[in-house]
Amino acid sequence: MDYNALSELLFPDVTDTPEALEEKYPPRNLPEGAVVSRMGPSPTGFVHLGNLVQGMTSERMCHQSGGVLFLRVEDTDSKREVPGAIEMLIEGLSHYGINFDEGAVLGGEKGSYGPYKQSLRGPIYHIYAKKLVQEGKAYPCFCTEEELAAMHSAQEAAKENFGYYGKYAVWRDRSMEDIKAALEEGKPWVLRFRSEGSIEHKIKFTDGIKGALELTENDIDHVLLKSDGIPTYHFAHVVDDHLMRTTHVVRGDEWLSSLPLHIQLTAALGFKLPKYLHVGTLQKMDGTSKRKLSKRKDPELALSFYREQGYPTQSVYEYIMTILNSNFEDWRRANPMAPVGDFKFSPKKMNPAGALFDENKLRDVSKDVISRMTAAQVYDGVLDWAQEYDPGFVELLERDPDYARAILAIGRGGKKPRKDFAVWSEVKPYMSFFYPEIFEPDYTAPEGMSADDMAEILRAYYRQRVRFGNESHTSLEADSAAWFEGVKELAGELGYCPDTKLYRSEPEKWKGSVGDVSMAIRIAVCGRQQSPDLYEVMRVMCSVDGGLFIGRLKCAAEALGADTAGWDE
Ligand code: GLU
Repeated sequence: MDYNALSELLFPDVTDTPEALEEKYPPRNLPEGAVVSRMGPSPTGFVHLGNLVQGMTSERMCHQSGGVLFLRVEDTDSKREVPGAIEMLIEGLSHYGINFDEGAVLGGEKGSYGPYKQSLRGPIYHIYAKKLVQEGKAYPCFCTEEELAAMHSAQEAAKENFGYYGKYAVWRDRSMEDIKAALEEGKPWVLRFRSEGSIEHKIKFTDGIKGALELTENDIDHVLLKSDGIPTYHFAHVVDDHLMRTTHVVRGDEWLSSLPLHIQLTAALGFKLPKYLHVGTLQKMDGTSKRKLSKRKDPELALSFYREQGYPTQSVYEYIMTILNSNFEDWRRANPMAPVGDFKFSPKKMNPAGALFDENKLRDVSKDVISRMTAAQVYDGVLDWAQEYDPGFVELLERDPDYARAILAIGRGGKKPRKDFAVWSEVKPYMSFFYPEIFEPDYTAPEGMSADDMAEILRAYYRQRVRFGNESHTSLEADSAAWFEGVKELAGELGYCPDTKLYRSEPEKWKGSVGDVSMAIRIAVCGRQQSPDLYEVMRVMCSVDGGLFIGRLKCAAEALGADTAGWDE
């Protein structure tokens, strides 16, 4: 067979050479060890956790090593293409600090290794296709869909492996005459790879995440170019990652089974094999067994889920880092305030089988992340979220930003910061008792205390406040210790033990302890049993409206059935 003549017959218009491409896309001038990697999403419009996992892995490897991260749009399957999908991906990932140095960008592309959209690279693939034909490494196949389907059925009946190989590779060694005749008839054709592999052979290979592997060689003459001249993923991947000078291919492990073909193709084209890192699919527990996260069953697979739920991006980022690198949590514990970028990410620490996703753990990580934020950061985060998901709350937050920030500052910043919320949507219920408009109190008396006793405490506290305060009742003791002294005094007057320890040693002597007294006050002021530091709460309330908590004492007492008419006498 005159392969040269065949290549001219199939690709008469291709005149450029691989050598010219080598010159046009020279090896990158980067320091030793710099990683060049990429993401190659298909523009399907669904941005998911898997994208984030891969994006974070490549991004860390590239940017930790002074390398380059680029975005290539794998749009060879126009049926699946959704308009705006790439913009969604770029924006979605950029929230998480994954920014591309090169490749597709909003409104176009940047970098000198493009075009970065596979649909614009047709001529490049054809140059290499022609070269493979010239060298006898690829050939046209004119099989129809029906013929291929019949072949599949025959293989099924004979319990043989599926695919185009061996005796089933009917166009592999056809004569020039047959090919010419088929072309003249105008029959559609695909270009197939002539595999020299055998399933009797194994290939040894080391994956950057999965470690040492032994894979069966590929014996199938896979399609390189479809009948419309568009490359398959396999061919495009090998050509693109060579010309774009990718050093590390980070991709989902669903591609691992095609790796033997990619290794063959790379060798056939005379390219250097990049390093491969096959990222395991994210899994979750379903009952007692693990399963892959599914688009249909698991809303948490979509990145948009986290924004809607109100998870701060930092929380999702740190959580993913936690499940990607087993030592991240220890590092974070040792460096609570360090920027997350200081952590040394290593693909070797990734779970080869895929990380296990657990939303409860995400919540814990998120509580930690939020507890390390300043009140101003929390305010900005919650406001940004509410702008989209809770406009009513925006009004309250913006009415008095200093007040909102003062509320959020309670219990923040110390050695043991409070961890009250994991998602922004929990901030409103948390803050609700500071805003009469959204306050939904539960004034039930604490366990073991009658409604009358609680009302009695509230009355006494009210009178202490009024005595203590000025006319508008805005005064509060100067600090929490002084305030608590007042509560103790009150406790004593009402028959509650002012000292909790003492109370424990002789509980029968008292109605309760000072703790019960302050709990009654807390319930009245906050409308619930759990709240941040009560003194701080009242201090912040007083800063805008001293009447607020004073008024609550009466409200609560009335709700408990007390008559407050005589309280001011
Ligand atoms: N378009 C492929 C995918 O979405 C890219 C795989 C790769 O990164 O090479 O799975």
